[in-house]
Amino acid sequence: MDFKLTEEQELIRNNMREFCEKYVNPIAAEIDENSRHPAEVFQKLAEGDWMGMPIPQEYGGAGADYLTHIIAVEEISRACASTGFTVSIHVGIACMLILLFGTEEQKKKYLVPMAKGKHLGAFVLTEPGAGTDVMAATTTAVLDGNDYVINGTKTFTSNGPTGDTYLLFAWTDKAAGRKGMSAFVVSRGTPGMKVGEHFKKMGLRSSQTSEMVFKDCRVPKENLIGKEGMGLQMAMTGFDHGRTGIAAQCVGIIQAALDESIKYSKERVQFGTPIARHQAIAWMIADMATDLAAARYLTYHAAWLKDQKQPFSKEAAMAKLFASEAAMKHTIKAVQIHGGYGYCKGAKVERLMRDAKITEIYEGTSEAQRMVISGNVLR
Ligand SMILES: Cc1cc2nc3c(=O)[nH]c(=O)nc-3n(C[C@H](O)[C@H](O)[C@H](O)COP(=O)(O)OP(=O)(O)OC[C@H]3O[C@@H](n4cnc5c(N)ncnc54)[C@H](O)[C@@H]3O)c2cc1C
Repeated sequence: MDFKLTEEQELIRNNMREFCEKYVNPIAAEIDENSRHPAEVFQKLAEGDWMGMPIPQEYGGAGADYLTHIIAVEEISRACASTGFTVSIHVGIACMLILLFGTEEQKKKYLVPMAKGKHLGAFVLTEPGAGTDVMAATTTAVLDGNDYVINGTKTFTSNGPTGDTYLLFAWTDKAAGRKGMSAFVVSRGTPGMKVGEHFKKMGLRSSQTSEMVFKDCRVPKENLIGKEGMGLQMAMTGFDHGRTGIAAQCVGIIQAALDESIKYSKERVQFGTPIARHQAIAWMIADMATDLAAARYLTYHAAWLKDQKQPFSKEAAMAKLFASEAAMKHTIKAVQIHGGYGYCKGAKVERLMRDAKITEIYEGTSEAQRMVISGNVLR
């Protein structure tokens, strides 16, 4: 068993840390405050080959392993959880699904510009009546001549307002149940597709989230990804990759909470001594550091399994469950350590606490992760 990262992985971590110090940290509070998508940062991420890290070079990516991408997501999220999430869903779900299930033609047409960071991807599954219960979806794709005609309303689409390439899930044969859903690629600007309501959120505010409305939206037959009926299987595969990314996002959030807590508790003096010397505070920090290590190992292990071409659904769900609950718990503690100052705008821990909450909800709630894990261990 080797817990040591490769030289390349360490280099990537350091490079991403430097990138964040230069381009992300200085604007993280502002883009949160203004709910602004930082297009200029994504331009720089594209130039640095960060938007297709684990995608083979022949398809426009950097050809790294999945663990390297995960380390990059962790580092960006340490600076800005919204930016880390946008990279994660673009690379880990949108790019990955086209790589794994797309035809050669689809990879050349859609994946190459995505992996180069020229086009941003989105994963369009959730509907107003179908969140955890994906099977309750109502969006349909009906074959008409050489086109599929899509009708339905999707919700909570991350990168909805800012995306270029949408991976959409719709019923092609509802009666076929789990084998009746299919996946399509839909490009921005396709007639009949419109970005609906934009959501104002508690946290993760610079990530753009919206409804997506499809009304008689025609896409050519060639836009079907994989075969008809493979949609649900593809969505679940996307979740395995995406959940590992969310776990990495959480590791970055906890690391930031720990960094801030160590710094503040050594500086803040009460009762004539830095508060770090009060055992109550020191123990909060000890628990934070311990859960951070556990979350990181679970996350890296899930990514490592993916790189070894082994099944990793259960491990991705475990990593996401543990890391997201730890992120929530420890960002609350980080605010506690900062006292009243931690509750005010301007303290990074205030943003971390708001950002942490969503990690227990999207890409499957904690309850959904427990369903996946128990389904695996009780088999
Ligand atoms: C900021 C944000 C970004 C998102 N990005 C995307 C995206 O890019 N693409 C996309 O497709 N979706 C996205 N989502 C949707 C997200 O994945 C869903 O919100 C999530 O799956 C939960 O669905 P829901 O909100 O409808 O909650 P519900 O499914 O209605 O759940 C409500 C509560 O009931 C619980 N619950 C539901 N069923 C059960 C059960 N059987 N047993 C026990 N408890 C249960 C849930 O765990 C939860 O606590 C995003 C959501 C948000 C808020």
